[in-house]
Amino acid sequence: MLFKNGNFINGKFVAAQSGKVLNNINPATGDIICQLPRSSDEDVDFAVDSALSAFPGWKSTSIEARASLLDRIGDLLEKYSEELAVMESEDSGKTLVMAKAVDIPRAIANFRFFAGAIRHDSGLHTFHMDSAVNYTSREPLGVAGLITPWNLPLYLLSWKVAPALACGNTVVCKPSEITPRTANALAVIFNEAGAPPGIFNVVHGLGGECGNRLVSHPSVRLVSFTGGTATGALVASSSAPLFKRLSLELGGKNATVIFSDTPLGQAVEAAKRAGFTNNGQVCLCGSRVFVQRPLYDAFLEAFGEAVKGLVVGHPSLSSTDVGPLSSAQHKEKVLSYIDSALVEGGVIVAGGPGPVEGLPQGGFYVKPTVISGLNAKTSRAAREEVFGPLVTVHPFDSEAEVIELVNDSKYGLCANVWTKDVNTALRVSKNLSVGIVWVSECAALLCFIYPHSITYFLHRAHSHTPSTHTHYAQG
Ligand code: NDP
Repeated sequence: MLFKNGNFINGKFVAAQSGKVLNNINPATGDIICQLPRSSDEDVDFAVDSALSAFPGWKSTSIEARASLLDRIGDLLEKYSEELAVMESEDSGKTLVMAKAVDIPRAIANFRFFAGAIRHDSGLHTFHMDSAVNYTSREPLGVAGLITPWNLPLYLLSWKVAPALACGNTVVCKPSEITPRTANALAVIFNEAGAPPGIFNVVHGLGGECGNRLVSHPSVRLVSFTGGTATGALVASSSAPLFKRLSLELGGKNATVIFSDTPLGQAVEAAKRAGFTNNGQVCLCGSRVFVQRPLYDAFLEAFGEAVKGLVVGHPSLSSTDVGPLSSAQHKEKVLSYIDSALVEGGVIVAGGPGPVEGLPQGGFYVKPTVISGLNAKTSRAAREEVFGPLVTVHPFDSEAEVIELVNDSKYGLCANVWTKDVNTALRVSKNLSVGIVWVSECAALLCFIYPHSITYFLHRAHSHTPSTHTHYAQG
């Protein structure tokens, strides 16, 4: 068994100093899988001290030695990939198929990618003048505090841990308490790979408790946070007075824009994939669909039928398209948006608020739901991040109108635009105020499968919601 219980500090698994624990619940059944430490300030301080002590040694380790460790970790993740995928699916409710196809392969790829990256770019850059050669050298910062959400637990953790360690930093991780186990499995793998104690530490517990301590700890020089926008604002306000380096990857309310020249079948498949991948729990999901009027009625009917055909079921079954949501609290949140949409005059096209028949009552299942008839400018369900299997559909007439509708949002993560006309695609992409635009491709799976490719999308620097790659070194 790859999993060991406890916080992971200085190479050892230890209980919270208070002895307090939290339950880790299986969302498919509501049963308790295990208990994890409910850490407080003194546990975080212990982990940060351990990372601080390990920093001078790790910083002076050769690039080749660091890269080799990351490669060994990638190899061990591959060796244990079946067990990791099961753990991830049980903790989060994501389908086992997705955990096997996306989450674990991407975690492996992240370690291998950053091993290669550090071998090829040590951060030394030169600028030649007539009489001198200037150089910049990027140096590690120290201890990085890494905070991750529950939707892609190991995947997002590996995306932070691998570059931080590659650059010579040491890390303290705070995974979501909803999906804690693969972080501990990674800790077991670090030991098996022969990692020096203290370079990688994990502290479990609640965000408002140990998460907050990690962010505000004076010895943590860098914070990398992925999670909700409201939490990101708290993290930013705690980090700012201490002038920490900060990376925030926050929420989204992304649009799928379908022009009427798009073949109907392609439009339906795109909107389904963008809306319901990982039970709609991906920051890049397309949770509001804008369809040009001539295609609107046919699209709504076909999309409704396609979504009714999605199989809601136990996440371990290969026949399941949509598993349970991650927690009871999250299920209530998603259902509350469906209720509010109905009060706002929404019309259920597929799914709806009722229970899913034939599944364990203790599980956190919600029917994949499509709602039309909402005002895209005022409806909460159409404007706020729901982060679940709920998609709203809206008609539009002109290009200018849809650009205004998409841009009228406090989010700005991504959009996907569907049209056969390359001029329309380029004009609309240029005018959408989002960080990433996919053209005739949708966000939710492409970037996971081709993690380092930007072939199919235009990536722009500006975004209402900060979403940047973390810089782990100072230069
Ligand atoms: P949350 O913001 O609730 O939590 C994210 C992490 O932060 C958790 O580990 C949480 O711990 C911790 N946390 C909570 N409060 C604090 C605090 N005050 N100080 C420090 N840490 C804290 O997000 P969710 O876990 O609900 O994840 C879903 C969100 O993540 C969505 O909004 C989604 O869009 C976003 N996301 C963004 C991505 C991106 O790349 N832009 C990618 C994936 C998700 P605890 O669980 O104990 O509360």
